[in-house]
Amino acid sequence: MKKKIAIIGAGVVGASAAYYLSKEETVEVTIFDEGTGQGTSAAAGIISPWLSRRRNQKWYRMVKAGAAFYPDFLNEVMDGAPIPESVYSKVGTLLFKSKERHLEELLKIGQKRREEAPEIGDLAILSPEEIKQKIPIYTGEQSALWASGGAKVDGKALVDLLIEKASQHGATFVPERVEKLEPENERLTVVTAQSTDDFDCVVLAVAAWLPTLLEPLDYELDLRPQKGQLAILALSDISTAQWPVIMPEGETDIIPFEGGRIVIGATHENDQGFDLEIDQDLLTSMVNESTTQFSTFLREAKIVDYRSGTRAYTSDFSPYYGPVPSLPNVYAASGLGSTGLTAGPLVGKELALLAMNQVTQLPLVDYPIEQYIKKIDEQTK
Ligand SMILES: Cc1cc2nc3c(=O)[nH]c(=O)nc-3n(C[C@H](O)[C@H](O)[C@H](O)COP(=O)(O)OP(=O)(O)OC[C@H]3O[C@@H](n4cnc5c(N)ncnc54)[C@H](O)[C@@H]3O)c2cc1C
Repeated sequence: MKKKIAIIGAGVVGASAAYYLSKEETVEVTIFDEGTGQGTSAAAGIISPWLSRRRNQKWYRMVKAGAAFYPDFLNEVMDGAPIPESVYSKVGTLLFKSKERHLEELLKIGQKRREEAPEIGDLAILSPEEIKQKIPIYTGEQSALWASGGAKVDGKALVDLLIEKASQHGATFVPERVEKLEPENERLTVVTAQSTDDFDCVVLAVAAWLPTLLEPLDYELDLRPQKGQLAILALSDISTAQWPVIMPEGETDIIPFEGGRIVIGATHENDQGFDLEIDQDLLTSMVNESTTQFSTFLREAKIVDYRSGTRAYTSDFSPYYGPVPSLPNVYAASGLGSTGLTAGPLVGKELALLAMNQVTQLPLVDYPIEQYIKKIDEQTK
């Protein structure tokens, strides 16, 4: 008899886990995904973690490994066919700093980090003229740090591809919300409004929504949602597919996709819960601020679309994954914050390995799930 595994949540983490598990001949995979608020399909799409100034070494090791994993992962998924540019493209990153001295410092950090992360690629400080050769509409006067290994990913296109491949391998996709989990004798019942089904193992890849499934089972979680919104500009008659990812100083980035679509974002709103409403005034001022310095052409381009989604954060901003304490055969990952698209395929693969009782690449002790998910014992209730 096949091992029945349920994957709840089909963002980048759940869809990657589903892809790997669906390839196992001894496993029957069912994916449940409600879709609302998904971080992955809202994401800006930047894969370029190396030049961050964050000091969290364990986080850095995860995102560094995640970025390095992407090309091999997608080559495996595509099984010899070319990786579609509409999904993933290694186009390089341009990082701006207002002071030349800060660019020099960043270049040194990048060169040091490249010793352990050759995937950063070539590093150089580019003059405004050199930037113009890569992005002809650049009208700014600043130099920027170039890292040729940076990439962009369309989160929605990636997830659609992974679910398609998992379905081809026999996985079942259920576009429904899981209402509750009922554990009994090391098996789990997964309940939706339409169905009730038993599983040998459950992978929880529901990001910020993890408390909704675990709190009813008497767990306390250190996890909070953060709202992110972004805007999409359209440039006509210009080929943008090969333009690099642009990271101006500050939190708003510019990510050119094919067909003249330019993603600008994103906001980091900590006090909005799971709200997804688009605030057009906020986004218009964000777009104006970030494009003014960069290009007069972008400043004149029209906003044609908006996206919003929810990120998941722990109180110390650290991600975690592993077996859920005191809940046999249930595995979870969360807290991937603003770099979950980067880490997602690798974390999804790690969850698939755990579900198959195999050893993972990222040491579990570095991402201790028991620190963020605690069972409330009867006495303290
Ligand atoms: C605006 C924005 C920009 C971002 N930009 C970047 C970026 O440039 N680079 C980067 O690396 N990261 C970025 N991120 C972060 C990244 O998108 C997330 O960390 C990552 O996508 C999380 O993936 P996930 O699979 O864990 O969760 P999600 O993608 O959030 O997926 C969770 C899924 O579970 C489903 N779900 C929840 N509860 C249930 C239930 N009970 N039953 C069924 N389904 C359920 C949800 O509907 C959702 O589809 C960004 C995030 C946002 C919001």
